[in-house]
Amino acid sequence: MSRYLAADLQKLAAYVPGEQPQDKRYIKLNTNENPYYPSERAVNAVTETEVKNLRLYSDPDSKKLIAAIAENFGLSEKNVVVGNGSDEILAFSFRAFGQNGACFPDVTYGFYKVFADMFGVEKEILPLTAEFKINASDYFHKDKLVVIANPNAQTGIVLPLSQIEKIVENNRNGVVLVDEAYVDFGGESAAELTKKHENLVVVQTFSKSRSLAGARVGFAVASEALIDDLNRVRNSFNPYNVNRLSALVACEAMKDKSYFQDSVKKVVAVREFVKQELEKRGFFVLGSCANFLMAKSDKIGGEELYLALKESGVLVRHFKDERIKDFVRVSIGTKEDMEFFLQKTDEILRRRS
Ligand code: PMP
Repeated sequence: MSRYLAADLQKLAAYVPGEQPQDKRYIKLNTNENPYYPSERAVNAVTETEVKNLRLYSDPDSKKLIAAIAENFGLSEKNVVVGNGSDEILAFSFRAFGQNGACFPDVTYGFYKVFADMFGVEKEILPLTAEFKINASDYFHKDKLVVIANPNAQTGIVLPLSQIEKIVENNRNGVVLVDEAYVDFGGESAAELTKKHENLVVVQTFSKSRSLAGARVGFAVASEALIDDLNRVRNSFNPYNVNRLSALVACEAMKDKSYFQDSVKKVVAVREFVKQELEKRGFFVLGSCANFLMAKSDKIGGEELYLALKESGVLVRHFKDERIKDFVRVSIGTKEDMEFFLQKTDEILRRRS
């Protein structure tokens, strides 16, 4: 750290993404990527001509991509903003709507804390219940930015839409942001509710259910006024925030609905298979509506299992946070990936008994 760094940033604990090791080939089950390729339509959109067109800036209004998203949700284009990953949209939201502070659960996406610190937003962290659930009324009358991942990150547990709506109705002086990064794997989107609630922002991503994590495209849907606010931040930061190729592939991926539905269906089927298999082996597994499972063994600690799996060529995620340190988070890969993971888990458990 240099002595030139801003004082508040010297204290900032930056977000630590899951490992992307380049040293050897792992079965990667640690960053909730999709094991299937993006839609063929999306892949074919990247022609030589489009690559040559990289000499030109991207469309600062991302018109075609926004039109495809709006059409998908039955909304107007004025109700959509796109970002360089949904992380960027989250960052814009903390900057735009965090002036009275922000509240979110103790176990959730780790970036919320970092965005709050980065933008000087005061944070209020509310504990999940003992069953890792959100108690909606804890979030009533906060009158600040309320951030709920639904399904929740790290747990995969869903909060019913009726509860989301109650939170929105009971926070009229603050924006409620619902982060739906994982919603397509079993949650119910609140996108429709943005038509009747002016204080609701729903954020989604192409990274998970549309297999485009590396393209970095996310979006928000909300009332026209909230989208204007987010565009004010976006245009004050980087008006070309979605690059030409990513906009192109995301647009085609959004239009290829049948491919999307098929790949989501496959991930969900494998998730349920793995959950049962882990339970047969004595694991406690949270009921997940996402593309990952949180699982805890009574025979081996979370960190120990993570390290032993890594040694065997399987990467899962372990968090040191007190409440979830006994768990590992396992992203859902192909059936073959998951069978390999289960086989390695068996070998590790056998060695210990
Ligand atoms: N929200 C949640 C809950 C996430 O888990 C992630 C990905 N780790 C994101 C947002 C960000 O996804 P992206 O920036 O790839 O759209």
